[in-house]
Amino acid sequence: MTPILEVQDVTKAFGGVIANDGITLKVPQGPIIGLIGPNGSGKTTLFNSIVGYHPIDRGSIWFEGREISRLRVPQIARLGLLRTFQQTRIYGKMRCLENMQISVPHVHEGLRTMLSPYPPEVTERAEGLLEFVGLYPKRHLRGGELSFGQQKLLELAMALMNQPKLLLLDEPTAGINPVLINSLMERLKRINADLGVTLFVIEHNMRVIMNLAQHIYCLAHGQLLAEGPPEEIQTDQQVIDAYLGAR
Ligand code: ADP
Ligand code: MG
Repeated sequence: MTPILEVQDVTKAFGGVIANDGITLKVPQGPIIGLIGPNGSGKTTLFNSIVGYHPIDRGSIWFEGREISRLRVPQIARLGLLRTFQQTRIYGKMRCLENMQISVPHVHEGLRTMLSPYPPEVTERAEGLLEFVGLYPKRHLRGGELSFGQQKLLELAMALMNQPKLLLLDEPTAGINPVLINSLMERLKRINADLGVTLFVIEHNMRVIMNLAQHIYCLAHGQLLAEGPPEEIQTDQQVIDAYLGAR
């Protein structure tokens, strides 16, 4: 079967810093796949390259068998490939429901805009997804009134408004109250299993990624250091050294 995502020999440098150095990896359609590595190892850069945030210097990126290396963020998003950020990007002054409504492109078209800016099916989907992440009771609060953890859930729900096939999550549990991490993990598993969204997850919390991912890639110094199922990665001496060396 064609993998949903293929990264082939991707290199990206910023001035003299080679953030990604010939990375090759695959994400099959279906599971939750992990991406780990010490700070500065190039994880976020790889996500940025995949979603078209910046051009790559070398290599190619394929989504569902189609080359996307030279496409831009909105084109790639329309194909069903989206990301979330380490720092959330929600509108603090807008209500949760509005944040959801505006996250779908093409709603500001035609005469309908003057009467009611959001088609009823968009509002319905927004309410359904807010319910799914447990924020329905807070739909009329402003984004800025939510806790950081709730803002991350809202951002997740906003990404789901676009019905992605593959969602890249950059440290979804970073900054979240440890008590809430388990429930966030359960939600991520439901997004994967119930909504059928393949997840590619950068995660710093080892317990979380070992529990979530079926297969894990580990980067170090911009290169792929190791890959394998969680139980193998956990005991891989190169991975252990990379993390210990980074402290
Ligand atoms: P990670 O997400 O694994 O912590 P990053 O991909 O953010 O790592 O960073 C990898 C390297 O690339 C770091 O040395 C970082 O300083 C550098 N880098 C990332 N983005 C930029 C940028 N926009 N401009 C210059 N250097 C960058
Ligand atoms: Mg990062």
